[in-house]
Amino acid sequence: MKQLIENLISDGHLKTPKIINAFYKIDRIDFVPEELKYEAYTNAPLPIGYGQTISQPLTVAFMLELLQPKSGHKILDIGSGSGWQSSLLACITSDEGRVIAIERILELSEFGKDNSQKYNFKNLEFIVGDGSMGYKKEAPYDRIIVAAAAFDKIPEELKKQLKINGRLVIPVKNSIWLLIKKEENKFEEKEFPGFVFVPLVEES
Ligand code: SAH
Repeated sequence: MKQLIENLISDGHLKTPKIINAFYKIDRIDFVPEELKYEAYTNAPLPIGYGQTISQPLTVAFMLELLQPKSGHKILDIGSGSGWQSSLLACITSDEGRVIAIERILELSEFGKDNSQKYNFKNLEFIVGDGSMGYKKEAPYDRIIVAAAAFDKIPEELKKQLKINGRLVIPVKNSIWLLIKKEENKFEEKEFPGFVFVPLVEES
């Protein structure tokens, strides 16, 4: 694990002390299936069942650096899967913050919840449902992060559910997009191409 994290730091992917600290504290081995534990520290996505994967460490590092989660933030994590990224976020936001982790596959939501149990987070809640339209009940959010790629554009509803100065990090096809909400209908947008994601299922 140490080697993996040190490589992410020396390659310039991990920069922020609070994010680096979370990578050391939240051990990826706790979030991969039993038969793949020996691969937990390779820099690759790994299957977690139901055609889904635990994200590649480099991709998670890159997205969290764009997201800039802070202590006390309320964060919506869409596509919680293994629960690894949700737990990293819960560690970063600390007790004053709150992470809502939404996942459409019941069994994966339970897998993520079980995996994170060991860390005893009081600020992390797992919800089963379609997150492609966000989660209105708890909106607005300081941060929204999506782990699966939207098919052709950023869902408007996610933009609505952000606070002013809030950040949304979302893959669309093979690019990661960072949106910063400047005013109600004004966003600063930046595209980072060259990534691979499982599809965001847009049911609604
Ligand atoms: N952060 C997770 C990534 C899992 S892969 C991890 O590192 O383990 C992306 C996840 O998004 C999958 O579990 C998939 O089931 C979920 N997903 C896809 N479309 C979704 C939707 N509309 N709502 C909620 N979750 C969704």
